[in-house]
Amino acid sequence: MSKLKIAIQKSGRLNRDSMQLLSDCGIRIDNSKDQLRASSENFPLEVYFLRNSDIPTYVQKGLVDIGIVGENLLFENDETEVRILRKLGFSKCRLSIAVPKGNSSTGLEELNGKSIATSHPKTLSRFLKANEINATIQVISGSVEVAPKIGVADAICDLVSSGSTLFKNELMETERVATSEACLIGGANVNSLKAEILTKLTLRIESVLKARNLKYIMMNVANENIPKVTSLLPVLKSPTITPLGMEGWSSLQTVIQEDRFWEVIEQLKDAGAEGIIVTKIEKIID
Ligand code: AMP
Repeated sequence: MSKLKIAIQKSGRLNRDSMQLLSDCGIRIDNSKDQLRASSENFPLEVYFLRNSDIPTYVQKGLVDIGIVGENLLFENDETEVRILRKLGFSKCRLSIAVPKGNSSTGLEELNGKSIATSHPKTLSRFLKANEINATIQVISGSVEVAPKIGVADAICDLVSSGSTLFKNELMETERVATSEACLIGGANVNSLKAEILTKLTLRIESVLKARNLKYIMMNVANENIPKVTSLLPVLKSPTITPLGMEGWSSLQTVIQEDRFWEVIEQLKDAGAEGIIVTKIEKIID
């Protein structure tokens, strides 16, 4: 039987979240360490564990059908012809320029005549050109953040998420060059059998990602307070309201964005909601 081939990062930041996404999609994979390839036992999917930077080429050449990579890799390999099928919402980061703390002049034009260390030379070069900045790019493959300290460059351009690496190395972020997150990529051609599997996989991914930001909440409300409580809840459709055994009271259930829930929790209580229960949603299928 035909199997869809997906490439994911062998080790590194994207590996764990990519495997978690497949697992949340109900796809079981035995990925014993040091394996190059693993097959799912309950979904027609074959997983190839590859070096992050090789994945776009494998996808482009059709050696695998799809892959999960950071968008930043596509900015850097702009000649590779792959399509983003869907952004996946994890490994969110930004490619930023940072200079040693204490630099008095932090404007973009201050980079004229300076050197910038980076592992993302093409993306940086495009950014500098677009902003008419004339700086030297020092290509470094790792530990870019130490470059200013050891005198290799005046500034760096690197991926940042929490900012803790910059903080530890006494650097401050001055310019955002690009933003990135993990995405599902595909090549130009997928045969019809595989296209069917891909449709099934993307439906599962959609339902998992949709559920990730949402919570299911239940609460008890005196009937006269239902309109007030309901008005605080931006719901998918309308809340489910069922009578409780106790006369004059109902159970109100709905789905809500987690951030929104924390914003309205106090107001819900003030409006008369009691016994609020919040639970995780695994999947939402429209
Ligand atoms: P690495 O495991 O360091 O090779 O990084 C693999 C991918 O993870 C990169 O191509 C980025 O898309 C992403 N990434 C790298 N650094 C960060 C970071 N600081 N925060 C979030 N994602 C990152």
